[in-house]
Amino acid sequence: MANPTQPSPSRPSSSTAQQPRYIRLNDDDNVAIVANDFGLPAGTTFPCGLKLIDRVPQGHKVALSDIRKDGRIIRYGHVIGTATRAIQRGSWIEESVVKLPDAPSMDSIPLATKVPAPMPLLEGYTFEGFRNPDGSVGTKNLLAISTSVQCVAGTLDYAINLIRRDLLPKYPNVDDVIGLTHAYGCGVAINAPDAKIPIRTLQNIARNPNFGGQAMVVSLGCEKLRPEVLLGTQSASSTDIMTMQDDAYHGFMPMVQSIMKMADSRLQILDRRTRETCPASDLVIGMQCGGSDAFSGVTANPALGFASDLLVRAGATVMFSEVTEVRDAVHLLTPRAATPEVARALIREMAWYDDYLDRGGADRSANTTPGNKKGGLANIMEKTLGSIAKSGTAAISGVLAPGERATTKGLLFAATPASDFVCGTLQLASGMTLQVFTTGRGTPYGLAAAPVLKVATRTELATRWHDLIDFDAGRIATGEATIEENGWELFRLILEVASGRKKVWSDHWGIHNALTLFNPAPIT
Ligand code: CA
Repeated sequence: MANPTQPSPSRPSSSTAQQPRYIRLNDDDNVAIVANDFGLPAGTTFPCGLKLIDRVPQGHKVALSDIRKDGRIIRYGHVIGTATRAIQRGSWIEESVVKLPDAPSMDSIPLATKVPAPMPLLEGYTFEGFRNPDGSVGTKNLLAISTSVQCVAGTLDYAINLIRRDLLPKYPNVDDVIGLTHAYGCGVAINAPDAKIPIRTLQNIARNPNFGGQAMVVSLGCEKLRPEVLLGTQSASSTDIMTMQDDAYHGFMPMVQSIMKMADSRLQILDRRTRETCPASDLVIGMQCGGSDAFSGVTANPALGFASDLLVRAGATVMFSEVTEVRDAVHLLTPRAATPEVARALIREMAWYDDYLDRGGADRSANTTPGNKKGGLANIMEKTLGSIAKSGTAAISGVLAPGERATTKGLLFAATPASDFVCGTLQLASGMTLQVFTTGRGTPYGLAAAPVLKVATRTELATRWHDLIDFDAGRIATGEATIEENGWELFRLILEVASGRKKVWSDHWGIHNALTLFNPAPIT
């Protein structure tokens, strides 16, 4: 089906870019967003004759026609809410006048009824990656040391500092050594049904293609999460496990030396790896957004959606996520599912999350942040319609439960919370080797385990954060680039970053967020 969220803003010449401008995305829309940096004052008249009654901040909505009380407010061609009072043409539509509609019912929505036809194959695109024995391909060559419990995190950090100082210089083909530390392992209800989520997340992260198959675990010894479970082996005496409570250790430094010795043997293996030319189909790309604004669905997410289509055409695995930013548009996605089974899996994940939020006394309206609202997003419905533009136009070929590893190609929905680091952690477990992250408000977010390519929704942010943002999609709003041009450019940049030829800013500075597990199960 035609993607209702793919906007086609008119393309003014750059000389007109600073005239009063608004962006309307769909002929049915009775609101538009103000495009100009820093907004426009009351009294401003647009070329079409519309006059602003109020000052309207950048990205915020202006009424294009009079809207009666309880009348429908339409953006992206969809109802984003109803008016809590009468709204005059030319008024600023601030969030308090927009009443959130009910989430769409999932009882009778269409399943796989409008499956997009396969898109033409895109051949000949490659990147330089690290191929693994299991066929997967990494974009980095990292030694990652797993942990079975938080208790050992400080010890591992101590050892990693020494590994970086004393061992890593001997192995120039290894990019870095990182600790997979987390808050799980001790005092957890290990047999609770939902404990499978954090457990499989840790199991699958250890297998991430960027780590070259060289898993090792530092454990304490008394924790609930057994290190052998984490490794998926039977034996607690595996040579891949170091246990601090082992009687053999007399004092702290022998423990540190034991970790270093294990690390050294793995670094020798990793150092033999070199980049080789791989087809783009070997990529596993994660997509998410954070600090969204009203431009997210106009510039960065549609550009990423276009790039996602190119990746799918090239045979890659591409994941979109963030359940609460998909839930309100699920009825637009289930028709695109490749099969009714995939559509039902999508509904199953949405329903699980509805229950999860309900148990916690919340609903999906808890998603939108003060920053989202400052950026012009009135509610979760409006945010969602912009968010799903990331998914492009391809058929949805599979659904992953939180932390499941991707085993198929194409566009997948990987169910995760929207929280940036939780989503990032779960996508790493799903096998992501590079993440593309769109942001309107700005965030320094990064991951140690995979490059994070940050895309700004607005040129103003890309300019102000010139050494944190990797790609400017704001040129779509100013008319300097089309979605197609921007999408192609982003696709090519993804290949450059995956090849190690271009470093993302978060890696340049070494700013990396902690792994953050999703644990919906009880803690004892
Ligand atoms: Ca997010």
